[in-house]
Amino acid sequence: MKDSIVVTRGLTKRYGANTAVDGVSMRVAAGEIYGFLGPNGAGKTTTLRMLVGLIRPSEGSATVAGHVPGDPDVVRKLGVLIEGPGFYPYLSGRDNLRVLAKYRGIGRTDVEDALDRVGLAARADDKFRTYSLGMKQRLGVGAALLGRPDLLILDEPTNGLDPQGMAEMRELITTLADDGHTVLLSSHMLSEVQEICDRVGVISRGRLIAESTIAELRGASSLLLKAEPMEVAFPAVRGVVGDAMLTSGGIRIEAGNGTAAAVARAVVESGADLLELRLDEKSLEEVFFEMTGGQ
Ligand code: ATP
Repeated sequence: MKDSIVVTRGLTKRYGANTAVDGVSMRVAAGEIYGFLGPNGAGKTTTLRMLVGLIRPSEGSATVAGHVPGDPDVVRKLGVLIEGPGFYPYLSGRDNLRVLAKYRGIGRTDVEDALDRVGLAARADDKFRTYSLGMKQRLGVGAALLGRPDLLILDEPTNGLDPQGMAEMRELITTLADDGHTVLLSSHMLSEVQEICDRVGVISRGRLIAESTIAELRGASSLLLKAEPMEVAFPAVRGVVGDAMLTSGGIRIEAGNGTAAAVARAVVESGADLLELRLDEKSLEEVFFEMTGGQ
């Protein structure tokens, strides 16, 4: 297993009687794109704020790039975009980044490099207020890139973007990962992250309810079978896999080694016609709905 760049143990944040984050233990491996998924209010931003040291946990702990959150040594290794970038509307994109770079003691070559990497070099001298939302978000990522951090923490980077802006952001994030940055990004848009993330953590009502690869999450091992007549085929399938279920789409089977062949044989021997037998991958949306109880 690759080195971990973020590890949390029982991370918890309470606001009065409300527990915003409840015992989250997650792990982000170095070099991966990790999608932190959950519906609105699930606790994503609160978790990320704890990781970057903006707020303190009520309980539990976190290690980020080998340090406790907020340690000056880790701040240098971190690039952060949380709750929308705050930029001066009347300054250009370049000047906005220069202000931030100066404040953080970072050289101007980093500013040019960041503008280039987020695809804003050609518009760098235009005022921030003239930028599209997509460009504003990309400048936010550019700001996070100043100082060439190992880890980028991006809170809902595609939020509010149109399909083209989302596609550009996805492409940018993929490029950044290819360049060696680890990316931890949050989203409530499952279809967005399933294309680019290596692994995801799913949070619901403050609790981490799953952490796995997209394929594992979708349960790629389920089989769907259609046969005619179903009432003949179903008992035959049940004879092979006891917990096979009859659904509106066909017979659903949790497939193990050799299950497909055995099931097909049983159906044919039962005298029913086998019409279809295929892997039934659930969409991430379906999985998510099941897990979060339809939130
Ligand atoms: P969204 O996508 O809507 O930002 P989220 O998953 O990021 O959602 P959080 O912003 O982390 O969710 O909020 C989790 C819960 O904690 C919510 O119920 C929210 O109202 C509560 N919360 C967050 N910050 C505070 C605060 N400073 N004081 C009180 N409650 C808070």
